[in-house]
Amino acid sequence: MSTLLTGIATLVTNDPTLDDGDGSPLGVITDAALLIDGEAVAWVGPKNKSPDAEKRVDLDGRTLIPGFVDSHAHLIFAGDRAGEFEARMAGIPYSAGGIASTVAATRAASDAQLRDRLQRLLGEMAASGVTTVEVKSGYGLTIADEARSVSLAREVTVESTFLGAHVVPAEYADRRDAYVDLVRGDMLAACAPSSRWIDVFCDRGAFDFDETRAILEAGIAAGLTPRMHAHQLERTGAIGLGVELRAASVDHCNHVDDADLDALASSDTVATVLPAADFSTRSNYADARRMFDAGVTVAIATDCNPGTSFTTSMAFCLALAVREMRLTPAEALWAATAGGARSLRRDDVGVLRPGARADFAVLDAPSYVHVAYRPGVPLVSQTWRRGAPIHSAGATVR
Ligand SMILES: [Zn+2]
Repeated sequence: MSTLLTGIATLVTNDPTLDDGDGSPLGVITDAALLIDGEAVAWVGPKNKSPDAEKRVDLDGRTLIPGFVDSHAHLIFAGDRAGEFEARMAGIPYSAGGIASTVAATRAASDAQLRDRLQRLLGEMAASGVTTVEVKSGYGLTIADEARSVSLAREVTVESTFLGAHVVPAEYADRRDAYVDLVRGDMLAACAPSSRWIDVFCDRGAFDFDETRAILEAGIAAGLTPRMHAHQLERTGAIGLGVELRAASVDHCNHVDDADLDALASSDTVATVLPAADFSTRSNYADARRMFDAGVTVAIATDCNPGTSFTTSMAFCLALAVREMRLTPAEALWAATAGGARSLRRDDVGVLRPGARADFAVLDAPSYVHVAYRPGVPLVSQTWRRGAPIHSAGATVR
């Protein structure tokens, strides 16, 4: 079954060779059409050259962008931390320890409760134009609870991440070494079959440099690829370690120096900024402008989690990246789509060219600039994944 989408005022492909202007990285085609065959894009180009199709859909002057790729999300949890947010906004500083309250609630929850919460969050993401999501464990912190977390993640995405090294659980507070051994031993063995990635929260109050190296090296030996929480609260050397271990991504990056940026720029490790986490912890924003200017590949993700960034809106993150991190709207859109795909080492998503997966969002706007220009406004009128709609905003009476 082939479907031709026409009436696209602005089509963002993220393939510069398709750009009808100055060869911008966004690969923009104006007055465009896009042909879907099955789950994949079969053709993109100007509407007046579009091929025939069995079905046609007129988008009536809207904008079509690659679906957002949210490459950093913690969606397997129970409980609520609104009180902690309220206290933090009243002046209590953020530390990594708040994770413990979510751990207790998650351990007490049934599989059905965890799955229900996961599905609600994925529904929110679909409504906000997300078509690929990475999902981490990290609120179980026992062998059984981490294994069920990555297995629940694997039910909904191939991008499942083992984050047993999220924080040292209370019962191991004075036996840190034993917990590190558990994570890199039996817990890893139980979680690796359902995981593509291994992640460590390397920071003050979480895991130190040597612990992080030991855990990531064990993960690599088990066939997983590293990604990291790095330099959110302070410089730990985690970025250099990530580059050395060929991590796919180092995430947060609030504290960086020139050597960190040089190392990233000459590697294939992506720097993922998480502006909603900076917003929700009232922290200084990561300097994505400086990263871009240094030649680092930058991604934007939600860091959706109940403690420090409880949003599923990539559009909100993108608006913050433009306003607070000084990216252009084009750079931010690229980072939230193609950048996320790079951080997941994917070339079939985050781009709309023949052969790529037909994953995209339709914006009720004449250009992609509106995502940042109209913050907080739900502009996504449709989301398509694998060539089929997964969300439609429905008819509005005007
Ligand atoms: Zn995170």
